[in-house]
Amino acid sequence: PISATIFRDMMRHAGLAIIEKADWLSDLDGQIGDGDHGVSMAQGWRAVLHALDDAPTDETISQTCGRMGSAFLDAVGASSGPLYATAFQYAGHAVADRLDLDAPALAALIAAAADGITTRGGAVIGDKTMADAWIPAADVARQNADTDVVRLMQAVAKAAEAGMNATADLEARKGRAAKLGKRSLGHVDPGAASAFLLLSGMRTYLA
Ligand code: ADP
Ligand code: MG
Ligand code: MG
Repeated sequence: PISATIFRDMMRHAGLAIIEKADWLSDLDGQIGDGDHGVSMAQGWRAVLHALDDAPTDETISQTCGRMGSAFLDAVGASSGPLYATAFQYAGHAVADRLDLDAPALAALIAAAADGITTRGGAVIGDKTMADAWIPAADVARQNADTDVVRLMQAVAKAAEAGMNATADLEARKGRAAKLGKRSLGHVDPGAASAFLLLSGMRTYLA
């Protein structure tokens, strides 16, 4: 199982993976949005990295999630700020009674994060947003809750990747890109791309 220390390390690893790909995320946002998604995510995750460094060693996973959410919200002005802040908050509530995460608890954390994003942003599957990566990731997490954390994250990252790729064939109905209508076709949604980077970063940390 994933201890609180391992959890913080895993999130650091995932955050660094996003920061590394910031230019790609901004390029994607430049096609159908305002071109700042990489900057927003890098800002948010740098703040999260600092917040993780400040975490007392005996902090629970739930408290760490709360710390990550506050840091992200304070650092990010773009629409992804409140969406991820809510995701972290929901994730923390889902594991409030846990000292470590086995596969069912990790699945619950991922499903709760997705729930936070859809509750906050109101996006449904097919709207061409980060929810198109998060919703299938959450579904697959629930379906694989009885495996182990490595297999769970492999399945989750794969689902997020497929969801990200599928956004290229969708017309945006939420967020800035919705104004483009059909002109958003043929482009991957930047928020779905960063969701994939986050979940695949968690996977590569574990295996
Ligand atoms: P902004 O559009 O304010 O510049 P970002 O560039 O950081 O914000 O993030 C854009 C991404 O946010 C989009 O690619 C999309 O995935 C996501 N997004 C926007 N609105 C919503 C929403 N209502 N629900 C879920 N995701 C959304
Ligand atoms: Mg943007
Ligand atoms: Mg913006």
